[in-house]
Amino acid sequence: MANIVAIVGRPNVGKSTFFNRLIEKRQAIMDNEPGVTRDRHYGYAEWCGKFFTVIDTGGYATGSDDKFEAEIRKQVKLAIDEASAIIFMVDCRDGVTGFDKEFANVLRTSKKPIFIGANKADTPDKTLLATEFYELGMEAEIYPISAENGSGTGELLDDLIKTFPSEGVEDPDAGIPRIAIVGRPNVGKSSLLNALLGTERSIVTDEAGTTRDAIHSYYKMYGQNFILIDTAGVRKKGKVKDDIEFYSVLRSLRALEESDVCIVVIDAERGMESQDVNLISLAQRQGKGMIIMVNKWDLIEKDSKTADKFKKDILEKLAPIDYIPMVFASVLNKQRIFQVIEKAVEVFGNKTKKVPTSKLNEVMLREIERYPPPSTKGKLIQIKYITQVNARFPSFAFFCNLPQYITESYQRFLENKMREHFDFEGVPVRLIFRKK
Ligand code: GDP
Ligand code: GDP
Repeated sequence: MANIVAIVGRPNVGKSTFFNRLIEKRQAIMDNEPGVTRDRHYGYAEWCGKFFTVIDTGGYATGSDDKFEAEIRKQVKLAIDEASAIIFMVDCRDGVTGFDKEFANVLRTSKKPIFIGANKADTPDKTLLATEFYELGMEAEIYPISAENGSGTGELLDDLIKTFPSEGVEDPDAGIPRIAIVGRPNVGKSSLLNALLGTERSIVTDEAGTTRDAIHSYYKMYGQNFILIDTAGVRKKGKVKDDIEFYSVLRSLRALEESDVCIVVIDAERGMESQDVNLISLAQRQGKGMIIMVNKWDLIEKDSKTADKFKKDILEKLAPIDYIPMVFASVLNKQRIFQVIEKAVEVFGNKTKKVPTSKLNEVMLREIERYPPPSTKGKLIQIKYITQVNARFPSFAFFCNLPQYITESYQRFLENKMREHFDFEGVPVRLIFRKK
């Protein structure tokens, strides 16, 4: 069971400063993409061996007071609904404000444990000011803290974790595919992202990334759970074309690193280019799952053979890599966007697949018997036993008498047979030969 802590309070009291301290990130990730609204930030934190999710409910603009009032209700409602505990943040230097009182009024209706973080108590004299918040008339305890220098935060957290129903989950993302959209500039990556983001209520949760500059957005769409990785931190605007290309490549590389599966988007009009081939071989070396999305399919004049010809051309350029599924799509016409996601999730399934040892030996030893490794230097080569080893992507150890004499072409034969029997579409497979 997950422990969820929501930080609520009016703007500028220090919510995101505290949030970032908890998730050990110094810089808040801002999303500057116009038209993309992210209304919650999630992060994972740990205190004294208890794991919890933190929600930073802040980040709202103070427009009219009417709107603000509505925002308060929305925030607090969200917090009450989802959180197992609430940190109500106020500012010692400002003292009690009208907005604080409004928050207090709404929070009083909640049955969840509440902790008042009287923030910006950086010095002892400021700490004294914290008592002023008893005026809010809440039963909750008041903790003078400094989100900036950390003082007092330990006491708050000690008491906070006592309210947790469980130890928490160390990695709540386990088992959910992290998908990156990568490719050259102008192929339609942001269009795809926006098409996905634009789907109403598609965002389930939203987490400011725990590592580097990535934002992980959670989706539940078409019945699939997945996380889209967006590397906002490297979203720099270049003035010259080279810059754009450079940052674009950098983004793709970072997103790739954080992903389980990448959607390599290519432009149908331009076909597979050398940059794409480089990206794919890098992804293969990193053991990532892959699918190729041939985008802008609407721009191609087609007959019944067009897709096949395209496939053939891509395979030639990628040779010997031949296991990556391709989807011919058009973000513009919203054509086959669903298949792209569905395929990516399927590839994740292949990537995390565990083949039982008995099945593996039964099937593969039969193939090996039928077509044994060619003897080298007059020596008989025997493969005795196969087992899947623990790794980030499917890896198999073949135990044999003379591992050094297994030829490359025989390795390819074995890989093909493995793929034939156990469907590893979209995933690199590693065969390791060990002496036994
Ligand atoms: P939010 O709008 O509630 O998320 O507030 P922020 O975290 O953005 O903080 C608002 C301002 O208060 C920023 O300028 C912070 O640097 C500052 N701030 C946050 N925590 C502290 C603190 O403990 N002490 C002091 N002196 N300033 C703080
Ligand atoms: P990015 O640089 O890879 O993020 O590419 P963008 O998403 O910014 O798209 C580049 C251009 O291609 C934009 O003008 C899009 O409108 C256009 N585009 C994206 N997807 C399609 C598509 O499926 N068909 C057509 N015809 N144009 C598209």
